Amino acid sequence: MAEASLLDHALVRLDEASAHLTIDADVIEKLKYARETTKVRLMIRMDDGSRKSFLAWRCRYDDTRGPTKGGIRFHPDASEDEVEMLAFWMTFKCAVMNLPYGGGKGAVQVDPRALSKAELERLSRAYIQAFSRILGPDRDIPAPDVYTNSMIMGWMADEYAQIVGRAEPAVITGKPIALGGSLGRGDATARGGYYLVRHLAKELGLNGSMRVAVQGFGNAGQHIARLLASDGHKIVAVSDSEGAVQSKAGLDLDKLLAAKAEGHSVASTVGQGGHDFLSADHLVSVDCDLLVPAALENMIHEANAETVKARLVLELANGPVTATADAILGKKGVVVLPDILANAGGVTVSYFEWVQNRQGFYWTVEEIHDRLRAIMEREGRAIWNLSQEKGLSVRTAAYVHALSRLAEAIEAHGTQNFFMS
Ligand code: GLU
Repeated sequence: MAEASLLDHALVRLDEASAHLTIDADVIEKLKYARETTKVRLMIRMDDGSRKSFLAWRCRYDDTRGPTKGGIRFHPDASEDEVEMLAFWMTFKCAVMNLPYGGGKGAVQVDPRALSKAELERLSRAYIQAFSRILGPDRDIPAPDVYTNSMIMGWMADEYAQIVGRAEPAVITGKPIALGGSLGRGDATARGGYYLVRHLAKELGLNGSMRVAVQGFGNAGQHIARLLASDGHKIVAVSDSEGAVQSKAGLDLDKLLAAKAEGHSVASTVGQGGHDFLSADHLVSVDCDLLVPAALENMIHEANAETVKARLVLELANGPVTATADAILGKKGVVVLPDILANAGGVTVSYFEWVQNRQGFYWTVEEIHDRLRAIMEREGRAIWNLSQEKGLSVRTAAYVHALSRLAEAIEAHGTQNFFMS
């Protein structure tokens, strides 16, 4: 028997959810496979004059509910299987939030930290040259993901505009403000999770100051630490790809943010302001109330799930808890606020950016925050209630919630017209 793919593992959640809904078998058949995945080899000129090639993909997983939406990841371990799994999650994430989108994802197999800025720009532009026929504001709309950012989105939007011969800002989200980006997109992933935790605080039994551990100190990790600290919660441990630090009294966020801004690891602050050494592998086992995985997939797994001490896990990363670990955490009574809900603030403000680009009228940051909070609270509340009524984990409830929307759309399309474009 062939080894299970990453996508197969992700599909376990679809199976679990489908047991709680009466839906047609062909709905599941439709959602079990990526609609199309395009693979190319990008060739770019390096600064030393040599040529180098990089594998790249774009997956449009399902477009039943609208144009496919999802970020582009630059990572040395990126693979076709991973891109499809991430695009599957985007399909459910957009349905959870009731955004008029399907799910997609892209990736380049590269370590962007090993490239110069000029090389990175050439690679970003090459990606758009290769995939421009797949993309479009009504077809497939990329955004940032792991190791990509607004600067890269800006180059990509510019390249797309040059190819089609007109400004088309709505083809990509997470752009710099100067190119039609939205206010509030920068911290949207963390802010959505923050609003969710605040809204469900009573139900989750949270009162007073929480001790928080954050795994991953990139965009989402830095912003969630800042937002929670501003409410008086204590950040007791953080990690990044190179190390970790802890402090029972609470870490000095300004020191951590300054270290990151200078390109150093959080571990470089050991010895300053009461920061103690912590092995990055032990971050998930730190004594805390709230654990925030904000790095990569599968960080909480069979071998370490039992050691989690937090009562609540907020998944700002995509897929940080494996299905086996989920069962272990469930037995321990740990509540997991799942990725497709907890980190959906990012794609929700991407949607706001797309709407603003299309109407050519831009909102204030207060309007962005209010609209994001309203959607997080609406969908978070519905999912929480469903989990309580049916005795489901919050994750399964989120999948049931999304699946019922997807099933309705798939059925409404009719049998002959499963694909829109
Ligand atoms: N990469 C983010 C995610 O995984 C954002 C996607 C988007 O804004 O389209 O949700």
